[in-house]
Parts: sequence; C-alpha cells; structure tokens
Amino acid sequence: MLEEMKPLFCELYGNPSSMHTFGGQIGIKIRQAREKVAALLSCEPSEIVFTGCGTESDNAAIKGTLAAVPNRRKIITTRVEHPAVLTVCREQENLGYTVIELGVDKQGNLDLVELESHLDDNTALVTIMYANNETGVIFPIEKIAELTAQKGIVFHTDAVQVIGKMPINLAKSNIDLLSFSGHKLHAPKGIGVLYVRKGTRLSPFMVGGHQEAGRRAGTENVPGIIALGKACELAAQNLEEENNKVRKLREKLENGLLENCPDAQLNGDKENRLPNTSNISFEYIEGEAILLMLDKFGICASSGSACTSGSLEPSHVLRAMGVPFTAAHGSIRFSLSRYNTEQEIDYTIQKMPGIVNQLRQLSPFVTG
Ligand code: PLP
Repeated sequence: MLEEMKPLFCELYGNPSSMHTFGGQIGIKIRQAREKVAALLSCEPSEIVFTGCGTESDNAAIKGTLAAVPNRRKIITTRVEHPAVLTVCREQENLGYTVIELGVDKQGNLDLVELESHLDDNTALVTIMYANNETGVIFPIEKIAELTAQKGIVFHTDAVQVIGKMPINLAKSNIDLLSFSGHKLHAPKGIGVLYVRKGTRLSPFMVGGHQEAGRRAGTENVPGIIALGKACELAAQNLEEENNKVRKLREKLENGLLENCPDAQLNGDKENRLPNTSNISFEYIEGEAILLMLDKFGICASSGSACTSGSLEPSHVLRAMGVPFTAAHGSIRFSLSRYNTEQEIDYTIQKMPGIVNQLRQLSPFVTG
C-alpha cells in the first residue's frame, strides 16, 4: 500500500482539479481507486463519495438527508450508535426533530417489530449501524432496508466496523446511504467513504468546489484515496481469511480468558457477531486499569467506557444492554485482524489472569 502511495507524495503531487496534464493524470488514479472501492461493495463507482473519515460520512448522510427532505421531522436510530451518529441525531432535537432511539436486548439485538411501529410519513431518516463497534453485534440491516424502502424512507447505515470483515452486496440491497472509514481496513487515517445510492436525495454537507461531482467539496486526499483503493482490493481477497483465521483466533482468546479469569463474562450475542471483536467484562475492576497494565506488556486493547469530565462513565452500549454497573466498568474490547498471530493470543491469555487478580486485590467491590 505504501509503495502505491509514495509517488503521490514525491512525483505525482499535482491537484486533480487542475487543467494541466500534471494534475489531470491524478484523476485517472482516483478513478481506478473508486472502481476498486465500488468492486468491494458491489455498487457503481459513481455511487462512491470520498470523505475525510467515518464521522464526516455519518454527518453528511444525516444532515444531508434532513436538508433534502425538510418537510419530514422524525429520525429513527438506536441507543447503541457510535457518537458520530448519536450526537448528530441528538443535536437535531434542538432543531425541532423527534428522535426515536431504539433500545436493544441483553444480547445487544434490536426488535424489528418495534422499529416498524415507528415508521411513518413524518420519518425523514432511519440511521442504524451495521455492526456495533463495542460488541461486534450485527443488526439485520438488509431487513431494515427492505422495511424502509417499502415506506419510501431514506435508510443510512454506519458500516465503519463492517467493511472488509463481511461481504456486502449493495447492488442487491435497499440501503440508500452507507458510511465507512479507511483505517478500519488498514488504509491510513484521514480517508472515508459515503456510498450514495443513485437517485437518493441528499444535500451536500461540504459545499465549495465541484469535487466528487458536487457531493463533497474540497481538494481530495489523493494518497489516502489511492491507499483505500488498494485496501479494498486486499480486503476483497482476504474476506475469507478474515472470517476463518480471525474468527478462530478470537474464539481462542475469548475461551482462554473466560476459562482462566474468574467473574468474567462476554458482552453481546455470541453468534451474531463480527469475527474480529470480543467484548469481555471483568467484574469489580476498572477497564482503564486493565488497559494500562496490558499496555505494559505491549498488549493494545480498548475499553468500553470513556472518561468524561473527570468521572468514569460506563459505556452507553453496555448500559443499553442492561450490563450491571460493576461489569460495565470492567469491560475490555479486543479487536483482532488478519495480522494477529496465535502467539499473541497465547501471550494475552497468559498475562490476563495475573492482571485481573492484582486489580481485584485493590477493588473496593471485592471483600474477603
Ligand atoms: N462509526 C463507528 C461504528 C466507528 O467505530 C467509528 C470509529 O471507530 C466511527 C463511526 C468514526 O470513524 P472515524 O474515526 O473514521 O471518524
């Protein structure tokens, strides 16, 4: 990937919007990258809009739809969306929109009957993530897209966690708008995509120049686009491996941790999940403390909870699933990829029980 990007920094640094040949030749490279992205998603290259990141794609999809259908004043989403969706939707409440946030059950799954009961003529947009970034739980996106299509409601899905991990065929789907982010499939940070189904009404979020056929103004991140094209090509070749090798590694890690660490539990539906994600709660201890200790051993994971304004807030996703306070605070998310090895999994299984034990001795929730 780096080899493909290098010339764009050193020799081919022209601006693709320029009239001269030096800049113009870059347009061909962007076109090729767009074709590779479209091939991974089974859609038309003209339906791909390059953006700066997943957050921008989500903002563009939500705000662009609301601006395009101003007479409809209701948005339907879920309580477990990434802040890139949830914050934008909640902001719209201040502008007079009704925002329905659907809940999930203990396994993190949605109730489609409840969703359907909210769809009406006033609904401007349904925005529901393809798979959850904390638990990996997959939502029935194709069924939701069918329901919204029947009612003529625009459907957006945040697929940031999904692209490159699950096959997607947009030609056979009713999804109108789909966001994803390059760095989740090994492209560099700073490049994202918004898929816009041909015919979908969408006002541009970024206005200015005529780039991206007027759908996203601003000079393109050319090296990022070229790298994303390559990343999509590689992802298509590796989808099978992602599903087999990565899933096996994840199962080994999960079983090893749950067997060797007392009072540990898996968060999210065990089956209906992305192959690479594992969210485990280690009761009575702090996720952040576990992360710091893992980090000392060179193991990188992330916590389900975020430290907000000095107080430790447990994850909104785990809270929505009804995970008890003491378990939600001690949750850790492991995200694997095809670049992980079995040795790394064994090493993590070996280190974790000691860390948990050490922290439990300091825990105010553990007595005796
Ligand atoms: N949506 C989901 C589900 C994510 O997991 C992320 C990032 O992790 C984002 C949106 C935001 O993407 P970006 O960091 O590219 O803005």
